[in-house]
Amino acid sequence: MNLESAIKFHSPKSPQFTDSPRATASEALTGTDVMAAMGMAQSRAEMGYSAFLGKMGIGKQDSDRAINLLTKYALETCDRVAALRKLNGDIKPAVAQALATYAYLDYCRSAASVKGCDCCAGTGFIEAEVFTMKSPLAGGVRRNVREVVRVRCKPCEGRGIVSAACNDCSGRGKVVDRKKTEAQGVPVMSNCKRCGGRGYERIPSTEAHRAVCEVTDLLSLDTWKKTVKPFYDSLIDKLEIEEAWANSTLRSATR
Ligand SMILES: [Zn+2]
Ligand SMILES: [Zn+2]
Repeated sequence: MNLESAIKFHSPKSPQFTDSPRATASEALTGTDVMAAMGMAQSRAEMGYSAFLGKMGIGKQDSDRAINLLTKYALETCDRVAALRKLNGDIKPAVAQALATYAYLDYCRSAASVKGCDCCAGTGFIEAEVFTMKSPLAGGVRRNVREVVRVRCKPCEGRGIVSAACNDCSGRGKVVDRKKTEAQGVPVMSNCKRCGGRGYERIPSTEAHRAVCEVTDLLSLDTWKKTVKPFYDSLIDKLEIEEAWANSTLRSATR
């Protein structure tokens, strides 16, 4: 059993702990087996397990636990980055927490995610200039009048949010490779260049930097780009690694 199938056991809507006939190997496990395996995965791979459940929207406490564990990990490892090592002990935990929170948000992102619309800053409306022909009440010459009106934002259709799916590949992560397709005469797909095959746009790391700036002004954008961003990226990788570890723990416990 993998993490994906563990999800349904967390959903209160689907009572899976029954003795109805089971079709697949993973379903041949009893509810007790599953509970024990999940308990084991949770204790041996707590960060990855909580991170995954939180990502799938099982519970806010799972997300909080994952962020707390990642913050702890960030604090333990951040001293290898000089700019972070130099931070005062009283602000370091807050910086680590900001980094961990954004790393977790990025990890949770998928092609199905939504993000705030950049065009209207999430409000759903934009101000637009319009020119209308107005004739003065007292008669006279009709003339063009410039007005600023609030109109519904086009990219998000007034919802204030847009899909995080990549614009170039529509979230598929693959695009037709024109050159290879022409050369080989059959459709050849390759990883989308814009999103690197992920299918969705990552959270701009500058947003994480902005959150850090609210804690301290000691990390300039230049320092961020050179040394702190790679550390931030490693936190996102850490979550992926921990999820894979939770998955393999669960698999071996239910083999
Ligand atoms: Zn918009
Ligand atoms: Zn793409």
